Amino acid sequence: MAKKNKQFVEKVTAMEDDFAQWYTDVVKQADLVDYGPVRGSMIIRPDGYAIWENIRDILDAKIKETGHENMYFPLFIPESMLQKEKDHIEGFAPEVAWVTHGGDEELQERLVVRPTSEVLFAEHYAKIIHSYRDLPKLYNQWSNVVRWEKTTRPFLRSLEFLWQEGHTCHASDEDAARETRQMLDVYASVFEDYMAIPVLKGKKTEKEKFAGAAYTLTIESLMHDGKALQAGTSHHLGTGFAEAFDIRFTDEDGELQPVHQTSWGFTTRSIGAMIMVHGDNRGLVVPPKIAAKQVMIVPIAQHKEGVLDKAYQLKEQLGSIARVDIDASDKMPGWKFNEYEMKGVPIRLEIGPKDMEKGQAVLVRRDTGEKQFTPIAELETAIPELLEDIQRSLFEKAKQHREAKTTVARNMEEFKQNLEQNPGFIKAMWCGSRQCEDQIKEETTATSRCIPFEQEIVADTCVCCQEPAKELVYWAKAY
Ligand SMILES: [Zn+2]
Repeated sequence: MAKKNKQFVEKVTAMEDDFAQWYTDVVKQADLVDYGPVRGSMIIRPDGYAIWENIRDILDAKIKETGHENMYFPLFIPESMLQKEKDHIEGFAPEVAWVTHGGDEELQERLVVRPTSEVLFAEHYAKIIHSYRDLPKLYNQWSNVVRWEKTTRPFLRSLEFLWQEGHTCHASDEDAARETRQMLDVYASVFEDYMAIPVLKGKKTEKEKFAGAAYTLTIESLMHDGKALQAGTSHHLGTGFAEAFDIRFTDEDGELQPVHQTSWGFTTRSIGAMIMVHGDNRGLVVPPKIAAKQVMIVPIAQHKEGVLDKAYQLKEQLGSIARVDIDASDKMPGWKFNEYEMKGVPIRLEIGPKDMEKGQAVLVRRDTGEKQFTPIAELETAIPELLEDIQRSLFEKAKQHREAKTTVARNMEEFKQNLEQNPGFIKAMWCGSRQCEDQIKEETTATSRCIPFEQEIVADTCVCCQEPAKELVYWAKAY
């Protein structure tokens, strides 16, 4: 058995040796995706899609709880419509996919396959908003978008991905600002409370903000290899799109005013974050709250009388307290252990003839490998407790990892040294100039991740130019 285990694990490159290869191996071995026929496109397999469905359902409920309604917009955007907001088209032009023909006829106007839907919403809002009584408008859509990326990786950067995009209109700047922050907090809650991934909340610099936004709020997470990943963004669009698309309303004094807008998006990239925060050299580790299957029953010596009956009976009995499945195939238990470790199922439940004699089952947690023998009569309370404990400890572990990989730099020498010796988030003061931001990226390849809401003063001068500092910024190499 030991030899077999070893061979199985060897299919996955050790993360210490090559993290990028480890990621690719796990995504494939855990059967989350297959590659699509077009370079950079992905087929999301049932095990990957089930995780997305769980995340989606959690987020969708929160979007509705906060007063938003779902709707659906078309996939194509006429070129002239995308051109209307200048910053927006400039930001997206390099990565849009164009439709030039319908059947064998060349189109009079090229169409864009949506990279995001700000302009579609804007055009629609211009038609339906007239008076202050029509505000706010709080709409969301779940859809796919296409961005023609040059380098691609499953979930992290793919030609097509799934997401939700919220688009709202408000009567005042303050209302839009409140909405922008509210949705960032919703995203943070999905990451921290369900995906067990701690996030930093803050604002993007001018350089890193969304094309066409007044400002962008972001949640940033840290992966196992010390690289950051932007986990979700929420944009205050100001009145830029309202001016370009003429979305105006008559206020209570009878004056015509542009609306104040927001947009916010959460994507299948989040699954990439989950893999890179919680995974280990045995494969995926899925937090219980978003796991497709929370408990996998593996019968031991299942040819012996009564074992399979008991295993199925347990599945039935535990089905109301957790998402439970059973593998009663004729594969060896050792193969099954490895398989469900690779897939990251939070708890394995083993039941065999000896356990039955003792009236117990064996519970093995995926995150630590710890085994516990639990009386069958107590499983209904033990399993939910164990799932909760796994959820909590995954979050704590990720938080400790982030803290251990967050350092302070007061000058560029320290900055580079930290990046080399302990890559992660670097807290450093910044003067606010684009020039310093560019220079830091040029010298280190690290980018500004966010200006955190929780500010501290770690030095008086800018890490780069040593001029008086304006604010604290988190920097990191990023996905
Ligand atoms: Zn500076």
